[in-house]
Amino acid sequence: MPLFKSEAIVLRNFNLSETDKLVTLMTSRFGKVKCVAKSARKIKNPFGAAIEPMSHIRLIYFGKENQTLYRLNHSDIIHSFQSIRDDLQKIYTGIYFNELIDTLIPEAHPDQNAFKLLLDGLISLESMNSLDSLIRLFEVKLMSIAGYAPQLKYCSLCKGSVGVEKIGFSFEQRGIICAPCSFKVQPQIRFQAGILKYLIKLSTMEIKHADRLKFPKGTEIEIEQLTHKYILSYTGRELKSYPFIKNMAQNDWSVKS
Ligand SMILES: [Zn+2]
Repeated sequence: MPLFKSEAIVLRNFNLSETDKLVTLMTSRFGKVKCVAKSARKIKNPFGAAIEPMSHIRLIYFGKENQTLYRLNHSDIIHSFQSIRDDLQKIYTGIYFNELIDTLIPEAHPDQNAFKLLLDGLISLESMNSLDSLIRLFEVKLMSIAGYAPQLKYCSLCKGSVGVEKIGFSFEQRGIICAPCSFKVQPQIRFQAGILKYLIKLSTMEIKHADRLKFPKGTEIEIEQLTHKYILSYTGRELKSYPFIKNMAQNDWSVKS
């Protein structure tokens, strides 16, 4: 049976039986894969912390090609991201990143960009303290990688300019809508032209520079609602970790104001 070697980030694990765990991983070479970790629930867990969510690892797994479940053979920690796990606000953000990748990236499609975004996202999360722009950057970049980049340059219907007044955004049309076209397609959300500038920045900036981007006071909620609803229009359901980071952000803002 072929052996597969890759770097990976652990997305999640759950108990499969009294002795085994099922581990979902975003690998750098083979895309998202699921592996059975035999004896991982025993006291002498042969994988140790290397199968904890967010761990950046080097792994070997085996199984027939193109099957859906593989067997984990060996894993070494490259970086555990333990400091994220030790911080209540950061741990939920890391889990949210993992859950977004798990939801939006299909299995067994090699996708180096998604792996790199997750790794860079976790590295940035480890060092940054202002998480608003980091979370928004991660959301917008992942939607692009998954093939759902929103149209922000011109009207999604007529390809014309959207003007400088309140701008409409349609989730079905995947982008901004000009005023005349708003009579044909009802935008689900409207925002000031200033917000559009920040959305364009989010789609072009590198995630490691997230701490250079500060949203003007009051706009962070509007931008958050837009990216959140856009993701929701694709996932069709609320992610489990989302309410946690939402609560954290609200508490944080109330302290600042
Ligand atoms: Zn138009």
